[in-house]
Amino acid sequence: MNIQKKRNHFPDRKAEDRVKDFQEVGLPIDFELAQKEAGRCLQCKHAPCITGCPVEIKIPEFILEIKNAQIKEAYHIIRKDHFLPSVCGRVCPQEKQCERLCVLAKTGEPVAIGKLEKFVGDEAIQKQYNQSSKIKTIPGKKAAVIGSGPASLACAGELIKNKIAVDVFEALHKIGGVLVYGIPEFRLPKKLIEKEIGVLKQMGVQFFEDSVVGRTIVLEELLSEYQAVFIGVGAGTPLFLNIPGEKLNSVFSANEFLTRINLMNAYAFPEYDTPIPNASDVIVIGGGNTAMDAARNAVRLGAKKVTVAYRRTENELPARKEEYHHAKEEGISFRFLISPLEIKSDESGKAQSVVFQKMELGAPDEKGRRSPIPIQDETELIQADMVIIAIGTQSNPLLPTISPKLKLNSKGYLMVSENLETSIPNVFAGGDIVTGAATVIQALGAGKKAARQILKKLEKE
Ligand code: FAD
Ligand code: SF4
Ligand code: SF4
Repeated sequence: MNIQKKRNHFPDRKAEDRVKDFQEVGLPIDFELAQKEAGRCLQCKHAPCITGCPVEIKIPEFILEIKNAQIKEAYHIIRKDHFLPSVCGRVCPQEKQCERLCVLAKTGEPVAIGKLEKFVGDEAIQKQYNQSSKIKTIPGKKAAVIGSGPASLACAGELIKNKIAVDVFEALHKIGGVLVYGIPEFRLPKKLIEKEIGVLKQMGVQFFEDSVVGRTIVLEELLSEYQAVFIGVGAGTPLFLNIPGEKLNSVFSANEFLTRINLMNAYAFPEYDTPIPNASDVIVIGGGNTAMDAARNAVRLGAKKVTVAYRRTENELPARKEEYHHAKEEGISFRFLISPLEIKSDESGKAQSVVFQKMELGAPDEKGRRSPIPIQDETELIQADMVIIAIGTQSNPLLPTISPKLKLNSKGYLMVSENLETSIPNVFAGGDIVTGAATVIQALGAGKKAARQILKKLEKE
């Protein structure tokens, strides 16, 4: 069989148009294109792609249904393993997961599994294959879910499907966790999340916004009303560099910068209350998805020059490949092997420039990544009137206020058993608050796994 080595082209909006607004970069995928790409799949018997997916979606099966024009079937195959194909098709780091192990990658390009998943997810939303009616729950069995990111949504969805009433408590005024406050609209349109949350509501899940567990309500109170609790509070507290100048005006954590734009609509100030300063030369420090998101937002806010500074090289860049590619298309400059030493200010107390230490790569660390080492006496000054720090996140130091009885590991993340149960019986946890910063699909997988353990426990009781 003669298989096309290169994947089909899935078009994006032109870079010069998309930098002018916050609308989605990728254009909708039509059926003919999806079917053509599905036709490249070899339907491998041992399907190595499946082992690359954290929730082990039956990839060849759903692709075959696309080939056969049975999109509803394709959707239900994916739904067995997770419920957000339109999200994961857009944001999964496929090149490190399912697509990395596709056999076609050995001789050419892998099947575009993510794009096909996006196509199926979007069709399901548009044609309402994802709809469900109100579920009659079992009396006297109720679970509380803390946080409303992907781990919590997956847990709530699995519980309600199995007739357990669920109440979700979210600290912010919007449901969705990083999917709404972190990942920008141009990568993941908010209406998709709203629609999926709408389905959970239809099924009977109740959402309580502005409810900080540990402040407005504590775990012990929840345990007196609910038979089980799931904690999915994420790890959204930003890390800082601890260098001089970090507290200057117009130095932001990426977390604050993105939240102001995504959640508080700062780009539309003064129509909305939250401002964001105008900047001409922006430096983003970091190399992950958060750094790309911050840099691409800065371009859209009108910055003349945006530079991402990363202390390793392009080869070690942790961001999704597609995000890096899109960022370059949008005119963002990349500077590798430099690490900030100091942020200098102008006379008004605003950032003016950053002094960088030049680096080289040394021996690999415990994860196999080569460590950056300073090159003695080699520094560089780069002008910047805004600096955004995107070097990672950690668990919230307020976590113990949820309950002092929760056991944490040395890094401040929740300790759980193999069944995702915490040190408190009937209290489960999953997602970033257990693993540290990870991915959406890993969080979805953990939420579902925890729900299954909760179901087992509640069945016994
Ligand atoms: P979160 O999504 O962090 O949700 C936790 C929720 O809990 C939040 O809404 C928070 O407000 C709430 N909460 C916290 N404390 C309390 C409390 N005490 N009471 C009530 N509620 C509380 N992953 C990918 O796979 N692909 C990507 O492209 C990608 N891009 C990213 C871009 C950015 C900017 C960021 C920050 C992360 C990105 N990630 C990406 C990582 C991914 O989003 C996370 O791994 C995932 O969202 C973790 O899900 P979660 O449910 O554990 O927590
Ligand atoms: Fe690949 Fe993510 Fe879909 Fe799994 S969920 S098949 S990793 S795109
Ligand atoms: Fe299809 Fe690639 Fe998976 Fe084989 S490895 S079944 S070609 S997606």
